[in-house]
Amino acid sequence: MKNYILLMIAVLLAGILFSSIADFSEQNKVSVGNYSVYCGDLHVHTFVSGDSPASPFAVLFDARQKGLDFIFVTDHNTVLGSEIVQRFAGLRSDLLVITGEEVTTPKWHVLALGISETIQPTHPLNETAALIHAQGGLAIGNHPTKKYSKALLPAFEEGVLDGVEALNFGPVTEGKQGEVEDFLSTLDSEGILKNITQVGTSDSHFLGSIGDSRTCVLAENLTQTSIMEALKEHRNAVGFNGEFSGGEWKDVLNEKAKIKLETHVPDWMKLASYLLYAVIVLAMLMLRI
Ligand SMILES: [Zn+2]
Ligand SMILES: [Zn+2]
Repeated sequence: MKNYILLMIAVLLAGILFSSIADFSEQNKVSVGNYSVYCGDLHVHTFVSGDSPASPFAVLFDARQKGLDFIFVTDHNTVLGSEIVQRFAGLRSDLLVITGEEVTTPKWHVLALGISETIQPTHPLNETAALIHAQGGLAIGNHPTKKYSKALLPAFEEGVLDGVEALNFGPVTEGKQGEVEDFLSTLDSEGILKNITQVGTSDSHFLGSIGDSRTCVLAENLTQTSIMEALKEHRNAVGFNGEFSGGEWKDVLNEKAKIKLETHVPDWMKLASYLLYAVIVLAMLMLRI
């Protein structure tokens, strides 16, 4: 009984803390003309992927701490993870969670953004892109290092992919950003790069890394329709390390929206949040909830 009271107090404190974090993210609103600037992570994994320990609660917690406006949850070969995170996010409405999947095959990975039904990884790449488009989604070629670019390049040349991960901050590209840059140069020399969307993602598999590389869009409002429309029309740039790059709007965003790359959460609050999160997880384990 005593343990339950402690857990209830911890949950109450977490609620107060989350409200404070929301207030911090309220401070970094930026408008450009008729658009608002919204920043998000287009490539986030949960435990549903099988290679990430991140619970839905942890994903939301981390995304809010980073001051993100939206995330696409993109587990390997299923939309289930994004549906679960959406359920949790429904408790609070200031972070938009959009359904997605990372269609994962041995030769290529493709982000299916904004789809609603799982797409099996059993189709060729061009058919997969067609299945994504049939659901109103966007198909993004992932981490085009040497290993994956061989299969991705023909798809870009055929015009079946909508965008490329110009910056993937996950384990696949560690030490291989040079290979990605080479691929982007090839797309540029073939006149393809200007016709597709360049995005930055964290490919987060661990608590703490969501939003380390992000994509900021100029959209009418914070809805799935507006965010998808902005990405389709390349109204975006890649945000990383306090700077915008790799997108048509990078200069405007560097001038007006650098504040969107800061989290505005004080270090003491980050530390307190992580400690509190650890206490809640421990309490849940002890109580076998
Ligand atoms: Zn991948
Ligand atoms: Zn991934």
